[in-house]
This record gives sequence, structure tokens and C-alpha cells, in this order.
Amino acid sequence: MNVLLVFAHPEPRSLSAALRDVAVQELEAAGHDVRVSDLYAMGWKAQVDRADFPALGTDARLLPAAASRNAFATGTLTADVQAEIAKLLWADALILQFPLWWFAMPAILKGWVDRVYAYGFAYGVGEHSDRRWGDRYGEGSLAGRRAMLIVTAGGWAEHYGPRGVNGPIDDLLFPINHGILYYPGYDVLPPFITYGTDRYDEASFAAAARQLRERMRIFAATAPIPYRRQNGGDYHIPTMELRAGLGAPGASGFALHRREGEE
Ligand code: FAD
Repeated sequence: MNVLLVFAHPEPRSLSAALRDVAVQELEAAGHDVRVSDLYAMGWKAQVDRADFPALGTDARLLPAAASRNAFATGTLTADVQAEIAKLLWADALILQFPLWWFAMPAILKGWVDRVYAYGFAYGVGEHSDRRWGDRYGEGSLAGRRAMLIVTAGGWAEHYGPRGVNGPIDDLLFPINHGILYYPGYDVLPPFITYGTDRYDEASFAAAARQLRERMRIFAATAPIPYRRQNGGDYHIPTMELRAGLGAPGASGFALHRREGEE
């Protein structure tokens, strides 16, 4: 399997970098080909702006989605973005690795998504009509591939538990797992998360490295999160609301979009 790991940490001697090396070594030992996009090392430009669309007239108003659609269709996206799209098409699997910063990914990684996920490539794919709302959430350009997060968090596991003050980690990561990875078609594996990282020592690193190695060993066989397919019949079209009667009794919010215990 070809695996692209997109890495977002500014310090090569960080805990995150050490865990990245563990993941890469284990994936390679399992026979996978791995490429790493180290965003800080690459000097990745995070913000979407006019420079992203060299074909846009100097007087033309910048409409980001329309400019993205046109640049993707005409092959005029910038070389850095085209290179990342080529890596995504090469990769059977995508791993995003980052420290949790303000309950989200670092800005540089969000900027990678904003710029690389072009209109016509990651969104705006397929028929959009009263009968169909595009190829997304389980379908799309990246369908049939796997994706997974590797996340370090300073807070404790309990802080992110069902009653933890930070909110459940599955909820916090839903916009990434469901909104960024499942949306263009990836099968999303449960994330690898290690907690309490600011108080890490040799023993906690050894334990996390062991767990991460195991996750990488079973990467190709791990069952994805059972998100519902948009076009699988569970949602009304075009309102995209979940049909009455679906979802566990009492379930609400993000959990509704997981198909668990249903035929
Ligand atoms: P590092 O800072 O590199 O290292 C962390 C510790 O591990 C250090 O004590 C270091 O000595 C030790 N260490 C490093 N490498 C090794 C090794 N190879 N072996 C053994 N020990 C090692 N946390 C949250 O939970 N929620 C948040 O919303 C949040 N927001 C943040 C926002 C910002 C802007 C910042 C800077 C931090 C935030 N944090 C948050 C904390 C953040 O998630 C952690 O600091 C981060 O996950 C630690 O990972 P790192 O790679 O940066 O670790």
C-alpha cells in the first residue's frame, strides 16, 4: 500500500516527530511505501489568496471556490498544490499527524486542506440536483482509500471522555474525520490519540510507541468508523436530513451519523 503521511509540527526533535518516525518505520517494515509531507519543513503556505490562482485576472474579484474550480479544471493550480494532489492520487492511504492545538489541527495543516482540496477534486464532485447532492460522504475522488489521524494531546484521556470538560474526543475530531476525510470518500480508521503529552517521559513514550506500532501493523486490516453513506438511502435528498427512525434511541448530534447496530 502507498501511504502519504502529512505531518504538522515545527520542531524536528519533538515528541510528534519521534512518533512519526515510529509510524513510518513500522509501515515500511510491513511492506508499505511511505511518503511524508512535512509541512513546516516544506515552508507550506497556509492561506488561500490570489497567489493561488495565477490565471485569475488582476481586476477579477476573487471567489475562492469558483477560482479553485477553474484552476483545477484548467490545470492552473500552483505547483505546490498540484504536487500534493499528485501525492494524494498516488496514496492508497492518508495519515494526518498533528498536535492538538486549541482543540483542532494547527493552522498550517488546515491550510494544506484548504488549498489542496480543490473544487472538482475534493468537493463539487458528481451530480448536484434535486435527486442527488454530489459524490461525497463515502463517495468521491478518494473513495476506496483509507485515512487516519495520529494526534498528540496535552490533556488527559479523562478530560476528553464522555463526561470530560473538553468534550468527547470523537466529537472534537468529527469535523476532521467526517468533514475532511470521509467527505471526499476516504474510509476513516479510528484515530490514534496519545494524551498527557506535556508530561511525557521515557516510559510513556515507550508505551505510546508500542501502541502506535500495533496500529500501523494492522493498518490495512483495521475496520473503518461506520459512518453513514450520504447516498446509501439513510438521508432525505435534498435536505440531507437523517430519516426518522434511524440512529440509536436517544442518540443526537454527531453520533447520529455513525451506523452502528443497524442492518
Ligand atoms: P513536545 O513538546 O515535543 O514534547 C512533549 C514532552 O514529551 C516533553 O516533556 C518532552 O521532553 C517529551 N518528549 C519529547 N520527545 C520524547 C521522546 N522521544 N521520548 C520521551 N519523551 C519525549 N492540548 C490539548 O489537550 N488541547 C488543546 O486544545 C491544546 N491546545 C494547544 C495549543 C497550543 C498553541 C499549544 C502549543 C499546545 C496545546 N495543547 C493542547 C498541548 C499540545 O497538544 C501538546 O503540547 C502536544 O500534543 C505535545 O506534543 P509535541 O510533539 O509538541 O511534544
